[in-house]
Amino acid sequence: MKAVAVTPKQANTVRLVEMDKPKVSDIPNGRGVLVEVLRVGACGTDREINNGEYGIAPEGFDFLVLGHENLGRVVETGENVKEFQKGDFVVASVRRPGHSIYDLIGEQDMTTDDDYFERGISRLHGYMAEFYVESADWLVKIPPAILEIAVLLEPLSIIEKGISQAFEIQERMKIWRPKTAAVFGTGTVGLLTSLAFRLRGFEVHAFGKDKREGYFNADLLEEIGATYDSTMEISVADSVKKYGEYDAIFECTGYSPIAFQAMEALNQNGVLILSSVTGGDRKTEVPADKINQQFVLGNRLMFGTVNANREHFEMGVKDLALSEAMYQGWLKKMLTHKVEGLENFGKVFDILNNAAANKAIKVYFEVNKI
Ligand SMILES: [Zn+2]
Repeated sequence: MKAVAVTPKQANTVRLVEMDKPKVSDIPNGRGVLVEVLRVGACGTDREINNGEYGIAPEGFDFLVLGHENLGRVVETGENVKEFQKGDFVVASVRRPGHSIYDLIGEQDMTTDDDYFERGISRLHGYMAEFYVESADWLVKIPPAILEIAVLLEPLSIIEKGISQAFEIQERMKIWRPKTAAVFGTGTVGLLTSLAFRLRGFEVHAFGKDKREGYFNADLLEEIGATYDSTMEISVADSVKKYGEYDAIFECTGYSPIAFQAMEALNQNGVLILSSVTGGDRKTEVPADKINQQFVLGNRLMFGTVNANREHFEMGVKDLALSEAMYQGWLKKMLTHKVEGLENFGKVFDILNNAAANKAIKVYFEVNKI
């Protein structure tokens, strides 16, 4: 079968490789599920891996099959798989257990191991292939009504984790009734985050770098009742004068200095969720006394979040369905670029590398027709 792979840590090595088709028996204890890949999303992570910034090949291979945002159809199941049947639609999660206690109880998203096992990213092949095989434990069933948008489930799962953990941590108070949220970053993750907050009834203010005029993502935000402002035109501090302090803030810009500005924009008892992976060594000057005092005197909270476990994928399925009920057709507008066939990987990476010029939100492969 065909797959799209890179040589990790070398720039621009993305190519088509030929591999053996996986078998249900590759997974122990009769728990294997063979899945025909229908769609695979591509994102900044795939771009950065192809840039040679990170990525690790599985043991015994000198290449890594890319792809972590997936949707597929079950074609065969092992004898101990009762929860899936041939023809079911599924999305697979990304991280597999390592060795820490969190990994052993199915919370590998909270691992304390330094080495990750992530499909399409680190030590495990990904989903940019015609088929994959996986244990039923790591698959989530997709209702037919949301198939068209289900390739967005994996990125949404990251947000589901962040927001649900914010609510869990906020049980430190007897009552927390947040009203406003700010979202820093308006790419795929920012749009999905704004949606997730809107589905929970928040007043949402989203901030990106682009000018408002002609910015399609801002049109989308306004369609679901969120505001959009460009941080080139209004500072985070001035946005607080306009909208008030935010009860919840989700940071997903990839630009670390904004995290410190966000700290100053948080309401009393509010929560700041950090999700940007910033691999550089950028430095910034901050009003340390002021921020520290605000956090202490206002019982403010900040935490980081990465990856997602099964439960967050399941929450995401519900939010995809709720989104269709509340804002029908909105998520489909995020699927801006469909590329048919794995052999057209060059096109996918061209679009990824020039996302702004292409006005791309989500680019994805259609490997097989739904
Ligand atoms: Zn991704």
